Formats: sequence, structure tokens, C-alpha cells
Amino acid sequence: MPPHPLFFQGGNGSRLTDLDDNTYLDYVLGWGPVILGHGHPGLTEAVQNQLPHGATYGAGHVLEAEVAEMVIERIPGAERVLWSNTGSEATQVALRLARGATGRRRFIKFGGHYHGWSDAMLVGYRPGPTGDLARGSEGQPEAVLDDVTIVDWGDIEAVRRLLQGDEYAAVFCEPVLCNSGVLAPPENFLTELRRVCDATGTVLVFDEVITGFRMSRGGAAERYDVEPDLVVLAKAVAGGYPLAAVAGRAEFLELTTSGVVHAGTYNGNPVVLAAAKATLEALDEPSVYETFENHGRKLGEGFAQALTAHGVPGTINQVGPVVQCMIGVKEAATFTDFLAADQKFYDRLLVHMLRRGVFTLPGGRWYLSAAHSEHDVEQTVDVFEAALKATLAD
Ligand code: PMP
Repeated sequence: MPPHPLFFQGGNGSRLTDLDDNTYLDYVLGWGPVILGHGHPGLTEAVQNQLPHGATYGAGHVLEAEVAEMVIERIPGAERVLWSNTGSEATQVALRLARGATGRRRFIKFGGHYHGWSDAMLVGYRPGPTGDLARGSEGQPEAVLDDVTIVDWGDIEAVRRLLQGDEYAAVFCEPVLCNSGVLAPPENFLTELRRVCDATGTVLVFDEVITGFRMSRGGAAERYDVEPDLVVLAKAVAGGYPLAAVAGRAEFLELTTSGVVHAGTYNGNPVVLAAAKATLEALDEPSVYETFENHGRKLGEGFAQALTAHGVPGTINQVGPVVQCMIGVKEAATFTDFLAADQKFYDRLLVHMLRRGVFTLPGGRWYLSAAHSEHDVEQTVDVFEAALKATLAD
């Protein structure tokens, strides 16, 4: 039986408390944004300090520029920044900029990559009832499929072939495929994508909504040393407040001054930007990224050892502070491998973890925050093992 949906009264650091006063170690982190943990003092203070100055101005203000400078300093290739509120908005802005720049309509995306819920983007994410990777939602026009070609993650030859026709405005990807298995890019794949896009005048877009400020200070672009034309940012950038951005080369972003529309009442909201400033400053504290790496590895290794100890076939992927557990598959390097994982078993495991005070995402992904201690990680590995035993005994 699935448990009741959880309702929380609040959080503190790595923990959440539900309405019945049960506490949980939190690996959901609001689906990723709460990178500093809950109620981080510096972030909370920054928001409180901004509140008396009003909610929004409908015109420029200093924080817009200040935080844009911080993004430009961190993200490879970023020369300009446009503010939005959510990742779904920002990916659409990126697509529009790419189309505006190239005069081309179509784009390439990869199977299992998620770029938000818009009509244009919610394609090729999960197989539908007939097993194909088409539209993601009822109510989405069939016509959206005319604009997009879905390619296997890592298939550089397919990208090369498609881009030869000068038909495609952009290639979108999650540079680490966090939404479907935490799959690192195949070796040299991002570099090759960069090369093919350069050769064909196609805009390379890294959707770093998850990876940005998480996989390293400069996101996956820095980690893999590849400079995309446009980077989409959200989630971690403001530590849990609704902020997103498109950052990238000036020649693209400046199209918004010559005909490409980028609108939104709340874009560049000062309260949210105050949160972003505090978050990016806190992420610059010594050894934050080293700790992400260590805790990520420790959590992943602990899970893998528990699976082996109890004879449960499975595999763990981990990049930085993002860990993916897949039951029933030996190795997961492709989207197809990820889809083969035993989700039913994992769902049961998840309920046993919840009962033992560990809150984690359905589907097998885990996010670590800067507030998670080594002790939290050790305790979590113990809970994972106990939950595994309980699942096997069900
Ligand atoms: N891109 C990626 C890679 C994401 O993971 C998400 C959200 N999970 C989005 C875009 C959409 O962001 P939002 O939910 O803020 O609209």
C-alpha cells in the first residue's frame, strides 16, 4: 500500500518535519533547489533584509546586475544573463533565442532528457502507452512533433547527420542526464557536440537546471570543460526560491533588444535575486564542492555495498552530489538501461525508507545538500540497508 502523501510543517538543515512531528533526512530538497539545506541562516537573512524594500518594481534594479555578474563569473561562456522564474520558461526563451538567431525552426533533443513542461519541450521524455517517445501530455498539439527530432544520448553520428541539412536551430541536452539515470555524458560527447554545432551554425544549449552550481561551481560546462552557446539555469541558483536564467553569448542574448521577446511580470524579482546572491556566496565557502563529491561517493558506495551484501542486483550512478539507484540492472549507461530498472521494487524500498525517516525521490534519484553531514550520510546508508532487508522480507 502506498503511504499517505506527506505534509510538512517545516525544515531545518538536512531535515524536514511532517505534521505529526516525524522528522526525515531529506534527499528530495524540493526536487533539487534546496542546495544549502532548509532555513539556511545566510539565505534567510538575505531574504528578510530585502523584504521591507518591496516585492517587485517592474524596472531595473541593482541586484539584477549584481547577480548577473556572479553568474557570468561562474558559468563558462556566459557574457549576458536573462532572468526568468522557472526552468520551463527559461528553456523556451533559449529555444526562441536559438530560432531568432538562426532563422531555423527545428531542434534536436535526446531521449529521456527533460526540459520543462511546455508544449515545445515536453517531448521524448518517457515512453507513452504505445512505447514511443512522443508527446508527454494529453492536450499537447501533435504539431509540436514536427519541430523536434529525438536522438539517443551519445549518438554523435545521428546528430552529425541531422545537422548537415541546416534545418536545426539548436541542440538541447542535460549535460549530465540527471532526470533519467544520472548518466554522465559519454567520453568526448559534449566536445563533439560543440564541434558539430560550430560547423553547422547550430546553437548548443546546455540545460543546467539540475547540474548548474551543483556539479561544480560552474556547473557541468565547467566540469566537462565545454562551452555551450546558451546555458539554462534554475533550481540551485536561488537555494529554493523561484529563479531561472538563460546565460550565454552576448550575440544571442542581445537579440532581445532587436525583436526576440523575453517577457514576464516577475522576471528579476528582487527578493528572489537576494536569495540567489546569498546562495551563490554560500556555495563559495571552502570545500563545499569537495564535500558534495565525497558525500555523493560515500552514499553511492554505501548503497552499492548494501545491494551486494543482500544479493540484490542493481547499480548506482553518481556525479557530484546526485546519486541514482537502479535495481535489477547491472550497469546503466543509456536511457534504455535506466528504463529497465525495477521501479516496483524501488517503490517498496522507498516506503521502507520513509518509515525509517529518510525522504527521497521516487525513481531512484538522491540529492545531497551542503547541510548534509557525514553522519547523515552514514545513517542514511544504514537506513537503506535496513529498508532493503525489509523489502526483501515483504
Ligand atoms: N530542465 C531540467 C533539466 C529540469 O530538471 C527541470 C525541472 N525538473 C526543468 C528543466 C524545468 O524546470 P521547472 O520545473 O522549474 O519549470
